[in-house]
Amino acid sequence: MADEVEKVVENVRRVTAEVEEARSKYRSSDDRVRIMAVTKTVPPELVNAALECGIPLLGENRVQEYLRKKDAYKAGVPVHFIGQLQQNKVRQIMGLVNVIQSVDSLRLAAEIDRQARRLGITAEIFIEVNIGREPSKGGVLPEALSGFLSELTNFSNFMIRGLMTIPPKGNAEKFFYEMQKLFIDNRGKSGDNIDICELSMGMSNDFSLAVQYGATMVRIGTGLFGTRK
Ligand SMILES: *Cc1c(COP(=O)(O)O)cnc(C)c1O
Repeated sequence: MADEVEKVVENVRRVTAEVEEARSKYRSSDDRVRIMAVTKTVPPELVNAALECGIPLLGENRVQEYLRKKDAYKAGVPVHFIGQLQQNKVRQIMGLVNVIQSVDSLRLAAEIDRQARRLGITAEIFIEVNIGREPSKGGVLPEALSGFLSELTNFSNFMIRGLMTIPPKGNAEKFFYEMQKLFIDNRGKSGDNIDICELSMGMSNDFSLAVQYGATMVRIGTGLFGTRK
């Protein structure tokens, strides 16, 4: 485990430096880019090693895995749910995560609203966009985003804070560019439950490019923790 911890520490330093390099080159000086550690299959000891080195954010894909591991994580670090989420699981994580990034249907949004109201909290959500129009992936189609956001304006127990995407393999640059446009078009939208200021995109293989195209948050698994077992 000591060797593995050392490797994570080294990886955090490298990824942080690479994000900073792209940020300082392509973005304005006050733009912030946060690095999320994606924890699927990773033991809490290694997750905590990344947090100790300054990673400010955790990303969780699976409800059961998160519930099993969460008490072993260093306290006080925001957790975002980034995996596909079934409606019937919303209740299990509501109040235990800070943001649900993978909202892509009215039914899911309605259930988040219902569970947030039950707890007396305001949930925070991102809308997932299927920028590559891949049938195998979740997310609303880019041309449907504007209509979807309009459908969500009547809910009062969540705030829409950002957009999230997982682009197709290959040609990420084109899709990051399209996401940046969508982000800019929707950033100014105002409403009681909408204030879009986060763009979550970029993973281990393409995060520098994502930073170039305006990501405010990159989601890194393999690049921090090595190949998943
Ligand atoms: C696994 C995962 C990541 C991280 O992927 P890596 O290629 O391991 O960095 C990012 N986002 C989502 C939604 C994921 O499921």
